[in-house]
Amino acid sequence: MLKKFDPEIYYALKKEIEKQIKTINLIPSENIVSKNVLKVVGSVFTNKYAEGYPKKRYYGGCKYVDIVEEIAIERACKLFNSEHANVQPHSGSQANMAVYFSVLKPGDKILAMDISSGGHLTHGVKVNFSGMLYNTSFYFVDEETEQIDYEKIREIAEKEKPKMIICGSSSYSRIIDFKKFSEIAKEVGAYLLADVAHIAGLIVAGLHPSPVGLAEFVTSTTHKTLRGPRGGLILCKKEFKEKIDNMIIPGIQGGPLVHVIAGKAVAFKEAMTEKFKNYQKQIVKNCNVLCNELKKRGYRIVSNGTETHLFVVDLRNKNITGLLAQELLESVGIIVNRNLIPFDPLPPSVTSGIRIGTPCVTSRGMKEKDMVKIAEWIDETIKNRNNEKILKALEREIRRFASEFPIYPE
Ligand code: PLP
Repeated sequence: MLKKFDPEIYYALKKEIEKQIKTINLIPSENIVSKNVLKVVGSVFTNKYAEGYPKKRYYGGCKYVDIVEEIAIERACKLFNSEHANVQPHSGSQANMAVYFSVLKPGDKILAMDISSGGHLTHGVKVNFSGMLYNTSFYFVDEETEQIDYEKIREIAEKEKPKMIICGSSSYSRIIDFKKFSEIAKEVGAYLLADVAHIAGLIVAGLHPSPVGLAEFVTSTTHKTLRGPRGGLILCKKEFKEKIDNMIIPGIQGGPLVHVIAGKAVAFKEAMTEKFKNYQKQIVKNCNVLCNELKKRGYRIVSNGTETHLFVVDLRNKNITGLLAQELLESVGIIVNRNLIPFDPLPPSVTSGIRIGTPCVTSRGMKEKDMVKIAEWIDETIKNRNNEKILKALEREIRRFASEFPIYPE
């Protein structure tokens, strides 16, 4: 038994379970997988090496692993209406790396969204491999509207002539017009990569337009709104199948994580159901209510609203940094992460904002009325940050409330 053999790890696991039960998790990139996903991810598939692809493995004993991967590929293609899917990337970052390496050379120009506007580290940021290898120009959201300015992107693209344009975001709360991106990319002869890591679940449910068929490459994580195990996914047209598959292995990875691929397959099956569509609708409804309730209480929302599963709050008028708000909220049982606001004067380690999302709380069964309560608790906590007694009372109330919702959705 784990408890006896490894009490330290047992303790951390027990406490993590307790924490997940007793807190309200508003981190938009996290979710809670189903019991079935959890079961296969913790299964004996973890024992298996399977370098290669179904029926073309470099290892023996892959009969059942092949079944798993073939089904995962077939379901991913069906779910996203894609010509090809590679389900082996260990993470979203590795999915992006494989796409870059498949058609770019070091020194090539890429055009991507600036990180404070919502871009991701792997979209050409200097400290990341993508920024070290490629010559990145960045586009920003419009200073006034804080939304994507497609004309500005066209201007930069015409001037810079990048080999690849990257769209998709970690904190942009508005619908992304993939059609416009694909027109711009075509005009300047660039490849288009749409990184839908955050919005994959919304796309599947028809709540956000899909870039499949418009972008040469679509990458995603499988663990955010899609509610599968931690991992990555690449979708592409048939013409790029060989390049992408060869870049994953032998290019940048060795053996696939078969237990995780099995989890992806189960999550894709779940994502095909009406229940999943309703779940995604509820995420967006909850997000809207939470956003509006915070607005009512004087919080400034970046771009003044949300059309997705997340939004960013600019805390400057509340005289608190993102870092302090994150720590304060965590002390009462509300988990958020600090986040840059567009053109943030503060560094990423401090930030002027927090990012809030509803995939997790929706998975636990929370509805609109619960979002009103959560907005009230966030506000009360920030307002009473110097009053220990009120904070303690809030913590008790929040933890009691959170404990009423299960962390193992069916
Ligand atoms: N792309 C986007 C837009 C993301 O938000 C993330 C993760 O936050 C990634 C890629 C990277 O995913 P991973 O953490 O699995 O490497």
